[in-house]
Amino acid sequence: MSVEALNSPGINIPPELQGQISVTTLDRIYNWSRANSLWPMMFGLACCAIEMMITASSRFDFSRFGMEVMRPSPRQADVMIVSGTVTKKMVPQIVRLYNQMSEPKYVLAMGACASGGGPFKEGYNVVSGIDKFIPVDIYVAGCPPTPAALLHGLIVLQKKIEQEKLSEVEWYRADFQEEIPVPVLGPDLIDLRKYQSIRDVTMAGEPEKKGFTVIIDEVNHE
Ligand code: SF4
Repeated sequence: MSVEALNSPGINIPPELQGQISVTTLDRIYNWSRANSLWPMMFGLACCAIEMMITASSRFDFSRFGMEVMRPSPRQADVMIVSGTVTKKMVPQIVRLYNQMSEPKYVLAMGACASGGGPFKEGYNVVSGIDKFIPVDIYVAGCPPTPAALLHGLIVLQKKIEQEKLSEVEWYRADFQEEIPVPVLGPDLIDLRKYQSIRDVTMAGEPEKKGFTVIIDEVNHE
C-alpha cells in the first residue's frame, strides 16, 4: 500500500510532501496493519483442507496478502479456517483451540460442511455448522470451495477488519466474555451453554422412553 492510500479522506497534503507523509486515524493504521498480517492456524478436518493447502502453495499463494505464516499453535494464530466436515468428536477440540487463540481473532467456515453440515447434515456424527459453537465471520460456499474462493473469502475478511473501530470492538469491553464452554462428548455432544434446557427436558419427560440423544437433539434444534 502506498503512503497516499493511508491518508484520511478530506486531508490535503501539500504537493511537496505528497508520497512522504501521511495523515491518518489510529483506526485506519490499526486495521491496515492487522488486516495485512493475518496468520491462519494450520489445521484441517477433511477434503476442504486439501484446497486450503493448495491456497497456500505457489500457484495461489496467500502470502501475497500477508498470510504466509500458517501457525501450528493457536497462541500465535488469529484466523481459524474451519476446513472440512465438523464431526461431534472434533467439536470439543475445535472450541478448545478457538479459546486458546488470543483476541482479536476471526473464524472462516470453509465449504458446505463447516457452514451447515454439507452432504452429511443429517448424519448422526456430524454437526450442522461450526457456527452452532463458535462465532463465524466469513462463510465460503462450495463443496469444496476452490482455492480462488477461499482467497476471496480471506480478502473479504480483510475488508471487514478494515471497517472495525477501536471504540466499538468487543474485546476491549470490560464485560467481554472470551471463553466458550468446551462441549462434552458423552452419549451425544452436549453444549454446556444449553445444560439447563437439557436438564429441564430430561427431568420433565421420560428419558428412558425417548432416549438421551433424542432429547439433546431436540434442545439443540430449539
Ligand atoms: S464441503 Fe465437500 S469437500 Fe468440503 S469437507 Fe465437506 S464434503 Fe469435503
